[in-house]
Amino acid sequence: MRESYISQRVAALKPSGIRRFFDIAATMKEVISLGIGEPDFDTPKPVIDAGVRALQNGATHYTSNAGILGLRKALSANLERLYGVSYDPVEEMIITVGGSEALYLSATALLDPGDEVIIPTPCFVSYQAEVFMAGGVPVEIPCHMEDNFNIDPVRIEAAVTPRTKAILLGFPNNPTGAVATRERLLEIARIAEKYDLIIITDEIYDRLVYAGHQHVCFPTLPGMRNRTILLGGFSKDYAMTGWRIGYACGPAHLLKGMLRIHQYTVMSAPTVAQEAGIVALEDRDEAVMMMVEEYDRRRKLIVPEFNRIGLPTFEPKGAFYAFPKVSVTGLDDETFANRLLQEEHVAMVPGNSFGAGGEGFCRASYATAYEKIEEALRRIERFVNRL
Ligand code: PMP
Repeated sequence: MRESYISQRVAALKPSGIRRFFDIAATMKEVISLGIGEPDFDTPKPVIDAGVRALQNGATHYTSNAGILGLRKALSANLERLYGVSYDPVEEMIITVGGSEALYLSATALLDPGDEVIIPTPCFVSYQAEVFMAGGVPVEIPCHMEDNFNIDPVRIEAAVTPRTKAILLGFPNNPTGAVATRERLLEIARIAEKYDLIIITDEIYDRLVYAGHQHVCFPTLPGMRNRTILLGGFSKDYAMTGWRIGYACGPAHLLKGMLRIHQYTVMSAPTVAQEAGIVALEDRDEAVMMMVEEYDRRRKLIVPEFNRIGLPTFEPKGAFYAFPKVSVTGLDDETFANRLLQEEHVAMVPGNSFGAGGEGFCRASYATAYEKIEEALRRIERFVNRL
């Protein structure tokens, strides 16, 4: 027998820091988890009902590879309504198994071995892994709290090499809650044009933005539609993590490559979820707004409290994460999160899981009941005071 049958590429992948903490937390009693990035809300009832109805009406078969045309049309109309960007439902859209698969397809379709992808960090844990698994080289550029965790176009431009193929953006951001400003995004657009790069933009939290802030949909910037792959999903905006649907939109020549991989790997996204997705989009803004309002109430609790406790925390503009700077306690993020979990049974994710830009911070998801956040904060304060 060989020592290992696992490919070198996979063996070199780090396990996700989030899952590791979640697994430890699951073995403990009375743990409050601020660890997992998923809405605590159930999927809105009309959407669940649509799923049940669809099953009863025979939605138990494959759909076309790119997904139910009616869903693609509804999505296209929704993107037009929200941002004024339009995609041809036939040639320029694929319904995927969550935003996760859309990310996988983008990396796999674009990258040859050694191609570089510039990724502002901290960022969603899968970005580096997806690029790496596709044979590419992730090039991390840190964003800083002092700069509102905004993108740094100067450092990004300095990182471009002849091997750079794409820039991968994720705003509203997981784990910082930052929303990239139009001004900085225009700089990224200029860089993309100058060096002929593709922009992959993961906008899965696009609807979860707080009053006074605005999400800029990257392909709406001048000249960008035809060099952008727009990724999104239903998991966060519509509390549909378990249904596993998402999407990719972009110019036909790129989507064609992605569809080929999708065809050979998953065939089609879950049929029942696609049927329910149509209703989620029809339901328009009511459910989304209700959830944003509740996240906002929690945000107004958790951010000032972290700051009061002595953990400097950036005010998130979107998504549902707070990202306190824990290094001020003298502990690194890994030790802080480990000890907090062991001593006070509160789970937060160490910031280094999100790339080098996250070191010294921890991520607290406030997609958790208000009362639980209150109790978690009491425990965190006790812990910090003991240090
Ligand atoms: N992108 C970001 C930024 C995320 O936070 C997540 C989920 N945590 C995803 C993509 C993937 O979501 P899904 O596959 O459930 O659509």
